[in-house]
Amino acid sequence: MSTPAQVQRPLVDLYSDTITLPTPEMRAFMAEAPLGDEQKGEDPSVNELTAMAAELLGKEAAVFLPSGTMCNEIALAVHSRPGDEVLTDRTAHIINYEVGGPAALSGINVRALDGERGVFTAEQFRAAIRPASRYAPVTSGVVIEQTSNAGGGTIWPLERIEEITAIARDHGMWAHMDGARLLNASVASGIEPRVYAAHFDSVFVDLSKGLGAPVGGILAGTQDFIDQAWRLKQRWGGAMRQAGVIASAGVYALRNHVSRLAEDHENARALAASLAAIEGLEIRPEHVDTNIVLFDVAATGLTAAEFGKRTHERFGVRVSVFGPTTVRVVTHIDVTAAQIPVAVRAIAAVTGEALAGR
Ligand SMILES: *Cc1c(COP(=O)(O)O)cnc(C)c1O
Repeated sequence: MSTPAQVQRPLVDLYSDTITLPTPEMRAFMAEAPLGDEQKGEDPSVNELTAMAAELLGKEAAVFLPSGTMCNEIALAVHSRPGDEVLTDRTAHIINYEVGGPAALSGINVRALDGERGVFTAEQFRAAIRPASRYAPVTSGVVIEQTSNAGGGTIWPLERIEEITAIARDHGMWAHMDGARLLNASVASGIEPRVYAAHFDSVFVDLSKGLGAPVGGILAGTQDFIDQAWRLKQRWGGAMRQAGVIASAGVYALRNHVSRLAEDHENARALAASLAAIEGLEIRPEHVDTNIVLFDVAATGLTAAEFGKRTHERFGVRVSVFGPTTVRVVTHIDVTAAQIPVAVRAIAAVTGEALAGR
């Protein structure tokens, strides 16, 4: 087997907050982490992480899982029965990025609501709940993504969450929060994670996004829910052994990388404000709630893929393609404030040249 050629990191990598590398301090902390057999409940680092997570989210218990996707899929499987219908926004991660997991693993039908920037209304939600019938699937639960990734990092307002989950409870439905970026929402809104989480039966938080840990997610809920989640973790091959090596990165991140998310939000706002001044780009800076910025390049005559290829290959600025002409840029722990003008110059140059060439 040959080793791949040295991977060249882009100069400014706005591709996603998933690309963050553990800091030297995080690596040192991981190297020192006390370890044991996670499956037997004997890994002190995993136990510390799950205790911290349960406390942070105001839940009885939590489980450490190798990915956020597994957190969502296990939550859905525990809450539902085959044939059930689950409501969420059409942009949701569980619909678009989990390889049909809800259907394949739980036999559930996910019904997409047409929200605005990833956030649907209480009226839309209420209207989608099916009356009990011998013919219709049972609308058994709701998933809310805080923040909405494909919506552009949108924060779900607490009042909207309260309204929707109250309706869900009235209908005997469960509620799960895909809180991959819940801590971004909390830092930006000043509302504690446990205050958002209180309205849900289960909550997942990703450690490998803006928090900067290399791997993993935490799923929290009642002790009974977590006991059932553990059985699926074991069955689906997510139970580990000396998992404290990676869980300790989560402990470090929860201690040291939460409040700094505010810097990412500031960088995203600065970036959006500068992009708004570039002729040929369509962007709504007032829609930037957290660390994700979406803009449209249709007026340049380029597709988002062509646009991204040019910023990357010519200027070392990597962005991601989010639609035929929609580009997404994400700020995170490995993007400094000084890199923002570098990214803006690259994006402005590609836009300007494309417009001139038309
Ligand atoms: C990234 C992400 C996930 C899945 O997390 P992984 O750790 O990459 O599996 C789930 N939901 C949302 C909203 C995400 O952005």
